[in-house]
Amino acid sequence: MNDSRIPLAAVIGSPVAHSKSPQLHNHWLKVNGLPGFYVPMDVKTDDLETVLRSLPKMGFVGANITIPHKEKVLEIADQITDRATLIGAANTLIFLQDGKIHADNTDGYGFISNIRQNAPDWDPAAGPAAILGAGGAARAVVTSLLDAGVPEIHISNRTRVRAEALRTDFGKRLQVIDWVQAGNMLEDATTVVNTTSLGMIGKPPLRVPLDGLQRGALVTDLVYAPLKTRFLAEAEDLGCQIVDGLGMLLHQAVPGFERWFGVRPEVDSATRAAALR
Ligand code: NAP
Repeated sequence: MNDSRIPLAAVIGSPVAHSKSPQLHNHWLKVNGLPGFYVPMDVKTDDLETVLRSLPKMGFVGANITIPHKEKVLEIADQITDRATLIGAANTLIFLQDGKIHADNTDGYGFISNIRQNAPDWDPAAGPAAILGAGGAARAVVTSLLDAGVPEIHISNRTRVRAEALRTDFGKRLQVIDWVQAGNMLEDATTVVNTTSLGMIGKPPLRVPLDGLQRGALVTDLVYAPLKTRFLAEAEDLGCQIVDGLGMLLHQAVPGFERWFGVRPEVDSATRAAALR
């Protein structure tokens, strides 16, 4: 890229109007006194490759990728990190000097950084983790929990075959539990994660019985609208330590911002406020 150009970045999805990423990145640009702009782009799947190949020519240094393009983008990227390959999806693109597209997945990094920031005493090795849901986000959560040293993961999903596929990909440290018995896997878990979209505004609540939760277990939800889901509120009432999902969104954005704009941004209360505006 010509160095005199103002660096540009985007979040690309469809729909994308709801994305909090523009407020977040533009906040970081402002507080760090950096030139640059970050814009939302609603791009249909058929146009994705054409758009991505054009962006570097227009001064874009990278992009975040969101639903429904996180898997498709791996077919287009020229370089893919091992973790994005393992997860089967990318959320962060770097446009290299020669126009090539480098794809990474920072969801797992964001997930673990959020817990480490908000529950610094969390010990991943203290016991098994229980994961509700086996969609795209669950793959990043599984990867990062195994990396962090969780001894085993019990995973339950409405569509059992998706959880079985995770076990096939990630191996024997994963054990699949039937969705109707999901409550049972919470009893010995020291880390509990909701990766389903249940509990999100406009979606049905998560109805898994939580009375088996261990007091002191770390419980986190990927859903962040509302910030304190009923799942988190009930876990808190049972004496669990809770961490909401907004911090994951904020932390997953850090590596991309640093690569595009050259400064590692802080995730602090002002960042949360900016994302919630
Ligand atoms: P996804 O691939 O569509 O997976 C959705 C998951 O929710 C699947 O496990 C699905 O089960 C389950 N589910 C949906 N409706 C259900 C129902 N009525 N009953 C039981 N299970 C149901 O989506 P995703 O990308 O993994 O995202 C999942 C959630 O995480 C979303 O709310 C997303 O916004 C959130 N998320 C947050 C962050 C963050 O930074 N905080 C990052 C990524 C994702 P089936 O397989 O049976 O359909």
